[in-house]
Amino acid sequence: MAKVLCVLYDDPADGYPTAYARDDLPRIASYPGGQSAPAPSGTDFTPGHLLGSVSGELGLRAFLESRGHTLVVTSDKDREGSVFDRELADADVVVSQPFWPAYLTPQRIAAAKELKLAITAGIGSDHVDLDAAIAHGVTVAEVTYSNSISVAEHVVMTTLSLVRNYLPSHQVVLDGGWNIADCVARSYDLEGMHVGTVAAGRIGLAVLRRLAPFDVRLHYTDRHRLPIAVEDELGLTFHESAADMVPHCDVVTINAPLHPETEHLFDDELIGTMKRGAYLINTARARIADQDAVQRALESGRLAGYAGDVWHPQPAPADHPWRTMPHHGMTPHISGSSLSAQARYAAGTREILEAWLAGTPIREEYLIVDGGALAGTGAHSYAVHTPAADG
Ligand code: NDP
Repeated sequence: MAKVLCVLYDDPADGYPTAYARDDLPRIASYPGGQSAPAPSGTDFTPGHLLGSVSGELGLRAFLESRGHTLVVTSDKDREGSVFDRELADADVVVSQPFWPAYLTPQRIAAAKELKLAITAGIGSDHVDLDAAIAHGVTVAEVTYSNSISVAEHVVMTTLSLVRNYLPSHQVVLDGGWNIADCVARSYDLEGMHVGTVAAGRIGLAVLRRLAPFDVRLHYTDRHRLPIAVEDELGLTFHESAADMVPHCDVVTINAPLHPETEHLFDDELIGTMKRGAYLINTARARIADQDAVQRALESGRLAGYAGDVWHPQPAPADHPWRTMPHHGMTPHISGSSLSAQARYAAGTREILEAWLAGTPIREEYLIVDGGALAGTGAHSYAVHTPAADG
């Protein structure tokens, strides 16, 4: 019988919800490109309910306990002597989400003698030391595509929000004011602007597709070019590098993984080549941008706005400088954890567990590490020796 240790974020401050804003979710059967949505043998949760917090338990308890397995759920993961550290000693499986990652460092993996499987409920397994997982024969899997569109929607939302000066204008309403000039003195139309993405993978391409109807001029850079038919359909301009692309753009969105090539890519020098008043949106990983360079650029006016949901470290401390820098639209790490996304990655987590517990293959597209090597999606998207994880 297996022990599954699930590390999830805390419940809402005023308790686990007893009612929801909506009654149902649209049914998403497959993703762009044809990959089918998670298909476990069954689920024990209501799609649209809060599953990613401790009391939501990713909807796994009845499934696991009815088969004799043990489920331990905690949010306590970072302090010395945390529940996570205590329970890890004899856990067979660890499940966590990138929004509240259970960092599986080499030391923790070495101490977790029974650990065989680490599941990311969501996408992005850089909180797992992949070298150590490979060395200890731990399988790493994630629910590929489960929240890619959720993140793309967040990018579109924050792009419009920054360009239109939405958040300060909403604040005027909350404050009881009506000074229209205060609202519009930084408000523009997106129409006609040049928008570029650093990387056009699942999220980057979804952003391009969603922004195309706004009659913007679209640019991208990536290690590989998209099919010519896609470039033509969306009117894309390809650039060999981010350095080549960003001087042409009014809005830049970062959708590349964090690795040595992208770490601190957006430093003073690169940001200094962007148009004065450009907007930068980063939902990929915080350290792709230099924290101080972003703050300086907002203060000097080089950047007119910065938004995203990824921070370093996570959770961001109360005095993190990005909380108080001017003209930002930051949120906590939420873009990929909408209730819609939770239903998909909870089902995907169950699908992975069902396969693993039955000794049948986990879908290739979910695998990051297996059999002591990078595998499946991991073999394409990940490298070993990834930089220490963050948001
Ligand atoms: P994909 O793997 O689908 O796409 C990533 C793309 O980036 C690939 O096309 C890859 O090219 C390209 N790439 C890699 N390195 C570079 C580089 N140096 N310059 C330009 N392009 C590069 O990933 P997703 O679209 O699903 O996700 C993108 C990132 O978004 C993830 O790595 C993750 O960090 C972040 N993310 C954030 C979430 C959130 O909640 N905020 C949730 C999910 C993901 P190639 O194929 O050749 O390697």
